[in-house]
Amino acid sequence: MAKVHNFSAGPCILPQEVFKEASQSVLDFDNLGLSILEISHRSENFVRVMEEARELVKELLNIPKGYTVLFLQGGASTGFLMAPYNLLTENGTAGYMNTGTWSTKAIKEAKKLGNVDVIVSSEDENFKYIPKDIQIPSGLDYVHYTANNTIYGTQFKKLPQTDNFLVCDMSSDIFSRPVTINAYDIIYAGAQKNIGPAGTTMYIVNEEVFNKSGRDIPSMLDFEVHHKKDSMFNTPSVFAVYVTMLNLRYMKANGGVEAMKKKAQERSEMIYNEIDENPLFEGYANKEDRSSMNATFTLTDESYKEKFDKLWKEANINGIKGHRSVGGYRASMYNALPIESVEALVNVMKKLRS
Ligand SMILES: *Cc1c(COP(=O)(O)O)cnc(C)c1O
Repeated sequence: MAKVHNFSAGPCILPQEVFKEASQSVLDFDNLGLSILEISHRSENFVRVMEEARELVKELLNIPKGYTVLFLQGGASTGFLMAPYNLLTENGTAGYMNTGTWSTKAIKEAKKLGNVDVIVSSEDENFKYIPKDIQIPSGLDYVHYTANNTIYGTQFKKLPQTDNFLVCDMSSDIFSRPVTINAYDIIYAGAQKNIGPAGTTMYIVNEEVFNKSGRDIPSMLDFEVHHKKDSMFNTPSVFAVYVTMLNLRYMKANGGVEAMKKKAQERSEMIYNEIDENPLFEGYANKEDRSSMNATFTLTDESYKEKFDKLWKEANINGIKGHRSVGGYRASMYNALPIESVEALVNVMKKLRS
């Protein structure tokens, strides 16, 4: 089979090298005569995988002392709930920035536990932009925002300034740029966008967060419980953590986040240049807020739709259909996407206008 150019928004492309090694380990892991799919999560070999995965995250993101790295289950959608459970006090208020579908969902979950103040929102323009000059009140239990809006294709370029605890959903841009970890108190990311396969969620948690809400937190939602058990309070997602570890190794061997950032810039410049130059296409997000991970665009003349769809399918391109709330197209360009795939897409766009 010819290899497909995979622009899928998530689960998404991972390096071929990772697939090869993972498939070998499905048959025989570490020469144990056992598959990675049948070993105990308590086995020495898997405990080593979990430890290596956590250490690699610390190394790649330069995580200071006092933070714990966890690999849990339930997706980033469970993160929506874990943040308020651990930080929102009975009478306190959490501040949220609403910049898209995922923020909206996070707000909905937090409201089930307590008071939420939506500090800013870009809903007035269907989340085309990132609010600027945000004044964050002090005295909040925490502030939450979504670093990269996967569906609308916008991305925060600046770190919000606040003296409150800061929580960030980095599901779709983690490991694509350096992060000032000590500005944050909870970072969470579903693995399936830029870390690994679906099935595990990564958390980076300041240990000062433990017990902050004063609530009787259900064990599965309590960061301290998972920290004390090294992400093994219950059976972790063994295979997903393993493949994640392989991908983290791959990122480290290929220059780390600085190199990933450079690649992300190259890929996104290439596609945005074409979107801006080609009269048949129009970018969705405001230029200054454009995501380096998810490029959203529409046709200026819908009568070209059939031809365009035919052309990209013929070019072995997959996964560029836009989300229903934006329409048009979305090219997700996560870390493992080769520059050649963006070239292939840009060529198709050029061909359409020629
Ligand atoms: C995909 C996504 C989610 C949802 O993640 P699940 O793991 O499916 O719960 C949340 N936030 C962002 C920014 C996403 O891109």
